[in-house]
Amino acid sequence: MVADLPAGLGEQLARRLGPRGYVSDAAALAPHLTEWRGLYRGAAAALLAPASTAEAAAVVRLCAEAGVAMVPQGGNTGLVGGAVPHSRPGRPQVILSAARLNRIRELDVANDTITVEAGCLLAQVQAAAAEAGRLFPLSLAAEGSCQIGGNIATNAGGINVLRYGSMRAQVLGLEVVLPDGQVFEGLRALRKDNSGYDLKQLFIGSEGTLGFITAATCRLYPQAVSTATALAAVTDPAAAVALYGRARERLGEQLQACELIGRAALELVLAQIAGSRDPFDEPHAWYLLLEVGAFDQGAGARLESFLADSLERGGVRDAVLAQSEAQRAALWRLRHSISEAQKRAGAGIKHDVSVPVSRVPALIERGSALVRRRIPGALLVAFGHLGDGNIHFNLNQPPGSDREAFLARWPEIAGAVHELVAELGGSFSAEHGIGALKTAELARYRGGVELALMRRIKACLDPRDLMNPGKLLPPER
Ligand code: FAD
Ligand code: ZN
Repeated sequence: MVADLPAGLGEQLARRLGPRGYVSDAAALAPHLTEWRGLYRGAAAALLAPASTAEAAAVVRLCAEAGVAMVPQGGNTGLVGGAVPHSRPGRPQVILSAARLNRIRELDVANDTITVEAGCLLAQVQAAAAEAGRLFPLSLAAEGSCQIGGNIATNAGGINVLRYGSMRAQVLGLEVVLPDGQVFEGLRALRKDNSGYDLKQLFIGSEGTLGFITAATCRLYPQAVSTATALAAVTDPAAAVALYGRARERLGEQLQACELIGRAALELVLAQIAGSRDPFDEPHAWYLLLEVGAFDQGAGARLESFLADSLERGGVRDAVLAQSEAQRAALWRLRHSISEAQKRAGAGIKHDVSVPVSRVPALIERGSALVRRRIPGALLVAFGHLGDGNIHFNLNQPPGSDREAFLARWPEIAGAVHELVAELGGSFSAEHGIGALKTAELARYRGGVELALMRRIKACLDPRDLMNPGKLLPPER
């Protein structure tokens, strides 16, 4: 049951936002009340889509004065239920959408910065940078539908973190509407600025719990002159880590992506995604997708020579180097289709974990044994950003098994995997955040002083718990 807004507030908000900015029709609201995999469903009285920072500040103030909770939402591609409103019987809430805040405000080529509104799609920002002959390096499979505000709120990672860092490394300035409607005007385009606490950092990765991000100024980089992409087949994760180490030695920071793909993940893609094909004649246990970007014409030659050398030494069993843009795109499509293929193949239990790169083989070996013991027949779909030590250690339900019964095992399996990750010195949440899914894990692994500090920051910025309540922070006992 959705709690109604206090009397008169709906009309006031609708007047301020106009018909495109105030949505309360049930059918139009429906897609915003659930998420990508349909694991979370919630309720909201309306969706508010301001078209300017001033509008955003005005409607946040109105909601705050009336004690109405607000759930910031970007492209709703997050994987931890963070952008979906909870069901909160008796307590009114609205969704705050950034979709209409979608202008590129400024691109300063000499300063290598771009200032964009939060609702710009990631792909739109990449395209604007490319048009100016620059690179915006954040790249992930959901880039056609996720928004820059969502990327900042989750400190998104993706495939180029290895070379350029995650979203936090790109943000120079932020504009944020605070939970009471005040605006934090921090849109500075400076690479050096030691004027007190660096407040913008608080909002990066805060998952909508501290404020509504309306705009950002981000770094741009030179575009590579040549790019080369290859898929290398290796025997096991230890061979993959060794190959990655040699690639760093030989290719230095020109190595811009290093993605691990297990055979089961590739087979899912081949089975579920039309038009995909295995680039090799025979199956291999593990693959590394390597990409090099160079500021001369030499990327292809360098990667080819590195692979030839690795084949000779026996570190690689086989390799294909993309010979055209189409082949390069096809290799990336294999990698980027894994999540979609997993979804089509049935229910999945997902772990987005990181460990020191040197411990990735132990994580995969011990994690796989642990899962097989508990759910024999589960499909182990391990893949991810090896260069960042960030593995999506996922499993799909055994073919033909009961979906709900499988999903009911999530807490038990995730509990065991996260224990292993902690033992290996890793994190239970590498890039997707906490959302609604991992609040208990946050209490378990970041309890004590860390959690207490997080609560004090939340209480300082949002004392009435109106911004994305119930997300990120576990309930206080
Ligand atoms: P949403 O899902 O709408 O929101 C995510 C969180 O941010 C929520 O807590 C929400 O409240 C908050 N939020 C959104 N917008 C704002 C705003 N303007 N102000 C304040 N808070 C806000 N993630 C990675 O890091 N790396 C990957 O490689 C990656 N690959 C993915 C592949 C697929 C196929 C999919 C579906 C997802 C993937 N993701 C990945 C997860 C997801 O795309 C990212 O988390 C992305 O940054 C979310 O952006 P969004 O606009 O969809 O945010
Ligand atoms: Zn990822």
